[in-house]
Parts: sequence; C-alpha cells; structure tokens
Amino acid sequence: MRSRWSYIAWICVFSLGAFRTFCVPGNEVNLLDSRSVIGDLGWVAYPKNGWEEIGEVDENYAPIHTYQVCKVMEHNQNNWLQTNLILNQGAQRVFVEFKFTLRDCNSLPGGLGTCKETFNVYYYETNDEERRNIRESQYTKIDTIAADESFTELDLGDRVLKLNTEVRDLGPLTKKGFYLAFQDLGACIALVSVRVFYKKCPFVVRNLALFPDTITGADSSQLLEVSGTCVNNSVADELPRMHCSAEGEWLVPIGRCMCQAGHEEVNGSCQVCKPGFYRSALQTKSCSKCPPRSFSKVEASTSCQCEQGYYRTESDPTNMACTKPPSAPRNAISNVNETSVFLEWSAPEETGGRKDVRYNIVCSKISTDSGQYEPCGSHVRYLPQRTGLKNTSVMVMDLLAHTNYTFEVEAVNGVSERTAPLRQYVSLNVTTNQAAPSPITVVKKGKTAKNSIAVSWQEPDRPNGIILEYEIKYFEKDQETSYTIIKSKETDVLVYGLKPSSAYIFQIRARTSAGYGGFSRRFEFETSPYSVAASSDQGQVPIIAVAVTVAIILIALVTGFLMSGKLCCIKSNTALLFHRRCGYSKAMQDPDEEKMHFHNGHIKFPAVRTYIDPHTYEDPNQAIHEFAKEIDVSCITIERVIGAGEFGEVCSGLLRLPGKREIPVAIKTLKAGYTEKQRRDFLGEASIMGQFEHPNIIHLKGVITKSKPVMIITEYMENGSLDSFLKKNDGQFTVIQLVGMLRGIASGMRYLSEMGYVHRDLAARNILVNSNLVCKVSDFGLSRVLEDDPEAAYTTRGGKIPIRWTAPEAIAYRKFTSASDVWSYGIVMWEVMSYGERPYWEMSNQDVIKAVEENYRLPGPMDCPTALYHLMMDCWQKDRNSRPKFEEIVSLLDKLIRNPSSLKGLVNPSNRVSNLLVEHGSPEGCVFRSVEEWLEAIKMGRYTELFMESGYTSLEVVTQMTLEDLRRVGVTLAGHQKKILNSIQEMRVQMMNATMPI
Ligand code: AMP
Repeated sequence: MRSRWSYIAWICVFSLGAFRTFCVPGNEVNLLDSRSVIGDLGWVAYPKNGWEEIGEVDENYAPIHTYQVCKVMEHNQNNWLQTNLILNQGAQRVFVEFKFTLRDCNSLPGGLGTCKETFNVYYYETNDEERRNIRESQYTKIDTIAADESFTELDLGDRVLKLNTEVRDLGPLTKKGFYLAFQDLGACIALVSVRVFYKKCPFVVRNLALFPDTITGADSSQLLEVSGTCVNNSVADELPRMHCSAEGEWLVPIGRCMCQAGHEEVNGSCQVCKPGFYRSALQTKSCSKCPPRSFSKVEASTSCQCEQGYYRTESDPTNMACTKPPSAPRNAISNVNETSVFLEWSAPEETGGRKDVRYNIVCSKISTDSGQYEPCGSHVRYLPQRTGLKNTSVMVMDLLAHTNYTFEVEAVNGVSERTAPLRQYVSLNVTTNQAAPSPITVVKKGKTAKNSIAVSWQEPDRPNGIILEYEIKYFEKDQETSYTIIKSKETDVLVYGLKPSSAYIFQIRARTSAGYGGFSRRFEFETSPYSVAASSDQGQVPIIAVAVTVAIILIALVTGFLMSGKLCCIKSNTALLFHRRCGYSKAMQDPDEEKMHFHNGHIKFPAVRTYIDPHTYEDPNQAIHEFAKEIDVSCITIERVIGAGEFGEVCSGLLRLPGKREIPVAIKTLKAGYTEKQRRDFLGEASIMGQFEHPNIIHLKGVITKSKPVMIITEYMENGSLDSFLKKNDGQFTVIQLVGMLRGIASGMRYLSEMGYVHRDLAARNILVNSNLVCKVSDFGLSRVLEDDPEAAYTTRGGKIPIRWTAPEAIAYRKFTSASDVWSYGIVMWEVMSYGERPYWEMSNQDVIKAVEENYRLPGPMDCPTALYHLMMDCWQKDRNSRPKFEEIVSLLDKLIRNPSSLKGLVNPSNRVSNLLVEHGSPEGCVFRSVEEWLEAIKMGRYTELFMESGYTSLEVVTQMTLEDLRRVGVTLAGHQKKILNSIQEMRVQMMNATMPI
C-alpha cells in the first residue's frame, strides 16, 4: 500500500523595499498579492465615487492597499472595482483569497432599507493584455461573498475590526490572464487585501528520482502523473512516478532508482565506494568491505580481486571470501575382502575455506604383462561412485583376485581446477584376495535320451579358487518362469525327468568360497524322441567300450576281494583298495544336493512326472544309469548289519562324497552268486526309487554296480521299519504323533499315485521311520515285490500276495491300483493305531479272505479316534471307486491335525471287539469277561500276573483303580499307565450304561 505523501513547505517572500515578509506555503505560487505591491495598485473603480483606495500604512509604515465603499444610505448602488490583468503563468486553476471587513447593517442608524452585507466577485479571461474596458455582462461570477463576522459602532470605538478571509477558486482557465472585479450593491466594505495564487507540487527527490515543480491540474479532483528522473549514478529498475494532487501534494510514488554498482545511496544521492570497498549488485544498499583474501584498489569498485593463490568460482557470491584447493585426505585405510576393497579416510586438514570438498578415487593396478601400473578399467565398480564422493569412504568391487592395486584418494573442491594439474591425494596399496569364479563359457551336450540329457562343461577360465560346486539351472524352452536348479561337484551331470523331443535351456555357474560366479550364456539342448532304442548316442560307443573294460578290471578286483571272505559289508578301509577317485563316475543329479524347482521365482515341489517302468527299457542297465547315480565304492564306509533283505544284508554306513559332509546311509547288498535276473530285480528297485523325490519316499543316494557286491545306497532311517518301531514303543505316542506319521505315509502315497506308481505292498513293515519320526514309504520292486515279502502268500491264481494288506479285487483278480493301495493304507492305519498289532491276528489267510469277502472288517483299535476308524473303514470299501483318494486322505488328516479336538471322540469300547471282526458299516463290540481278557485286549497282557498278585482279580475292583494303584501294581511306564487308565474309564462308562434303567 502506498502512503499518501504531502510535500508542502512554507516559502517566505522577502519584500526588499518595504522590509516585509509574506510567507506562503511552499506549494502555492502567488500571481498577485495586493499587500506586497509597493506602489499604486492601479485598480480601476467605477463609478468614480464608488470604491475608493485609502492610503493606510501598517505598523512598519508601509502602505496597505485597501479599497473601501460604504454607500449604505443610498439606493441603487452598483460599484465595481477591477484589478489589473493577472497573468496565469500556466496555471489552469487559481485561488483568490480576500481579506475584508464588513459593517453590520443593524448597527447603522436609519440605513437599514438599503444596506447590504454582501458583495460579488467576478472574473474575465482574456489573452489581450491591453484590454481594460469590460462590460459587466462579460464577467463571470465567482461568488457572492458574505462576511462571517461584521463589525459595529462599538467595534469601531474599540478599534477592533473583525477581518474576514474568504478563498474561492476558479478554473479551468484557458487564456493568458484574467481580471477580477468586485461588485458592491450597497454594503459597507473595506477590502483589505487580495491574493491570487495557484498551487503546485514542488520539486522533490524521492526514491533517488527527481520530480520537478508541477502545477496542479485544472480539476479539483485531478491527479497528474509525473515521471521522475534518476539522480546521478543511479538507474531505475522501474520508471519512478508520482501523482500530483489538486492540493499540490505528491501522492502515490511508484518505482524507484538505485545506485549503480560501485556506488551507494547517501542522503538521496549515489556516492562512489571507496578503495577497499565494493558494491556489486544493485540489491545491496551500501558499499561493503572487501571479503577476506580479496582487495579493491580503485574507487567505485564493483567487486574485489582475490589475493594471489586464492580463487573464487563463477558461482561463488562476491561477498564470499576467496578460497583455495583443499589439502590431501588423511589417515586413509583399506579393508580387503576377497576382490572388494573398502577404502576409508579422514577429511583433509585444510578445506581451503570451502564446504564443497569432494573425493575422487583413482585406481591403478600392476599389469601382469608389463609389470607397470595401468588404469583399473571400467569393469571395476565403486559404491556409491568413483568421483565426487561426499562421504569419506567407498567400496571398490569386482577387482581381480590376487592383484596389486594402488588407490589414490584425491580431495578436490570448487577451485581445485584452478591449480590443476597439482593434485592433493593420499595413496594406498592393496592386494586383493580371492574372487568369485568367472562365468563358464563352454557347455556341451553328452548322451541324450528321451527323458534325459547329459550335460558337461569346462571349468571357468578364472576359477579364482577351488570350485566347491556348480549350479545347473535348466528349464524347458520358453518356460523360463518354471526352472529347476541342480547342484553338482562334477563338470557333468545327467539331467533326467525331461520330456521327450523337447528343447531345454541350460545355464551353469560355479561357486568357490568367494561365492557364485556369473551364469554361463544359455545353451539349448533337445531330448530324444520317445523310442528308447533311439536314445543311445552314437558318440558314446567308445565310452561304453572303455566302461566295459574298466568293469572287467573291477570285477576281477572285487572277485579277489570277495574271496577274502568279507561277504556282506565292506569296511571303509577295504574300500580304499579301489584306488579310484571318490565321486560319481557318471554324474547323475547328485542326490545329496537339493534339486530345486522354481516357478515364477518361488520354490515349488518337484514337478509330478510319470513313473517309468524300468521294464520298458530293453537294457535294464540303461534304466539304472538313467535313474540312479553310480557311486564309487571308496565313498562308502560300511558299519554294521541292520537287517536282512531278500537279496542280501542291509547295512548301515557312511557316504562321503568329495567336498561334502559325511552322511549316514543304508546299504542294501546283493549277495554273491546271484543270477542275472536277481541282479536286475535288485537294481530294479533303485531304478524305481531313483525316479522319486519326495520327503515321504525313501531317497536313493545312488548305486554301486561297477564293483561287487552290487549295492543300493539310500538315506538312513534311524528307527528302522514302522511295525517293529511301533511294537517297541507301544502306547508311547500321542494321537497327534500317530496321525502325523499317518499323514506322512499318505503324502508319500499321494505322490506315488500321482506318478502313476502302484506300490502293491504297502504295509507298516515297508515304511521306514527316521529319528524325527518322519515316515517314508520304501520297498519298491518289480515282480519280486511280493515274492520277497514274507507276508505274501500264493493265491489260487498263482501270484504271491500279502493277503491281510491287500484289497479283495487285487487278491481275486490281481487288480492292483492306487485304490488297492488305499485299502492297504487303511490296514497300515490300523497297524499304526494299534501299535503294530498284526491285522486279523492269528486268523489264517483263507479266513481273512473269507471274512473280508463277507463284509467283515477289522474293529477299531484301542484308543482309536472315531474319525480315524471311519477313515480306515472308508479305505476298506468293497467298491474300490468308493474308497477315498490319497489326496483326500491327506487333506482329511491335515484337518484332524489342525483341529485336535476332532480326535477326542474314541471308538466306543462297548462297540469294540478286541479280536473279532465287525461287519462293515456297523462296528459293534462286546464286554470283557475277566481281567486277563481285558488286559490282553488292550495289549497289556504282560501285567496280568502283577494285577492278580496285587488282588485286582475282578473287573469291578479294577474299575476303582487310580494312577497310584497302577504304580503300586508295578505299571511304571507312563504310556501304559495312560492306556490302562483310559480303558478303565471306558469300562466305568460301560458299566454305568448297563445299570441305567431302559
Ligand atoms: P528291506 O529288504 O528293504 O525290507 O530291508 C530290510 C530291513 O532293513 C528293513 O526292515 C529295515 O529294518 C532295514 N532297512 C532297510 N532300509 C533301511 C534304511 N534305509 N534305513 C534303516 N534301515 C533300513
């Protein structure tokens, strides 16, 4: 908001001759002032006897030009008094100020009739300076003037005349000058003085701009816009302007002028800056002292020069001190981590007066060729960057291994380039350690089959250390989102489980202790078409020939070994006899390393493939080599015999593959003197097992076929077979633990059924248990499956079948399907829930077949949750299509595990028969007749004698027993106590029901 400015001063006019001073405001310019006229005024009065000039003097005896008229007693008065011509001097609007006295008519005796108390004022404009005779009618009236105060006789007596002052303005004036005329119509007036003036806005300097005297406008409300001119050594950033009001006041200043650079504003003018001072920008008001390290030698300096050795950048402000480059960084240290180096340093002692200190890294290394230092090259990476570092550290990566490097840490600031090539740096010598291996460049395809491709590759050019393993990533062409990763220690691998006639992309990378190297480029290989015969690669013939030769030599060696009398389990030291490098001779997928499948970046369970019957291979050896990895016998240490299989002993031992930790394994051996068929059948199990990859299927580690005895190496299951494990731990597990085991078995079976594999001999004895209670399905065979099972019996149709575990349709007409496996699973459930009880007890196979045929089924085991018994019964549906699928069994068991309360309801003991079959669909039971029978039924028969000795001879007494009583009797095992107490509780309920009125 602009303020209103008024510039009115008082100007006093000193009248020389009369020593009189008349002061007028500074914004008024007199055109006439009757008081200041020394001589005759020369005004004209007519008629002559009207207005008359009276010669009075003031207190200084100077004449006062006063005109008076007082014809109050006479009628028809019309007395005019005309002034001289008054020149306008350019003013368009002028003011007339009269000072007069007027006689009060009331104070005149007898003159009332004609006496007036007013007079009129007129003007007449003309350009003619000579013209005087103007007719009355030519005048323009300004106003009729009345006195504010008139005087009386008394006033005259007191000599106090009341002086009136009136001001009138006239305009717009358009001619050179004008006359004023005073008309009296019969009043008694004395016109003491007349002053005519115009108003102006007086000269002024404002905002360093000069504004000249400016006569106000013609109109009383007019504002004249006036442009100013900048004072010397100043410039306008915006043209300065002000407005001159009709009252002669300057209003509303706009814009301003500024002193030029090198000058400063002092009292409305611009003065030069003295030496040693400067003023650069128009924005700063006054001259400033030169900043440190700079000077100015002349006046009106706009900037100061830097002293020698000091600099300013173009962007540095002129008021900033001159600066210099920083000193070198200090205390530089390096920290080498393989092929990365972490460099750290302290800021320089001298920053040069600047805040923009940055650091650059210059890396050079000793060339292996010339031995000279050379730049490190663009492959070296710097974190966060190489140049312009703000922090005092940097990570340098991707250096070469075992190489000498020199790093110069250079400090620079905004003025460093002024002193280039002088550099301020600290240098560090560093030797790198190990690096990750360089990418593999050569990958080749080997033997190809319809489901497998052998891939080999060369070590990377720069391994940069010992290669610990390779990672083989492969996926079906154009299916990159779903890929598999295999790890191998060898430079070849047999990738199996592929689709026939399909293109696969392979990428391989190596790993050392320094980490993974980059992946190789993509290699595309194709599997063979479906025909097995066509799968053999012609190029492999010489290899096979060599293999045969090696085999013959090995057979000779092993024969000698066997003759030394160590028939079953080769001890570890004897394995050394072979003097061969321990490892896989034919790199199948290494079973000790994970084979992981990825889909869209997430690990997924192995893709479900179809099981391939090894019988479909003309050459069983080919099947074994396709699905099982050959292990060198020197990798095996046999420790002890743990069981007996149909083909030979089963041992436990250790497997140590190169670069891997030793792991416990089970070793199945093929006893000496086998037939070719026995060998084929023995290895057939490995060909089947090798196709499976599931946490609940026993995992094949590999086979030893190139030495004798032939062996199958599997993962070791510490707790052996499930049936004996349960018998050993009767009553020791919670229901949830038992259901967990069942869930694992069902999950393994689901996997097998999805693979299209029918087990045919699912039974607790063929389930293995590890130390974590994980159950895994084992015992895979071809025709021998049923033959080697001691439970298998010959059926009327000739085959050998484990009757108690087998579905009726499989017994009747060998209809083995996943549905018949489900039946067997139901029997396994029963075995599990009854802690290894023999299904159908001591019933003969024939009776079992007959009973089942007649729709009788096993009763619910002791303490068996109803939900589980119902599931068993479902598995034993006569119609195989009505049986649940393994998938459904897994999800039902999952539900039960998630909701343990669903396992609370137990098979009603009153409906339970301990050793009698129930009709399918109506599980019924009977009551016990004696303590002995009861204890037998709950498989606690071993305590019968103790019970009798302690006096618990009747069931009535038994039902009163407490835990304390049981302890006293001698039942100390918690599981047994629990089992007996549960049963007692069931009997109580049963007795209560029996005594209740119907
Ligand atoms: P099999 O001829 O496969 O039924 O094996 C005979 C016995 O050897 C089994 O009943 C087990 O007690 C034992 N056995 C077989 N394989 C293993 C294994 N992987 N881990 C531990 N024990 C095993």
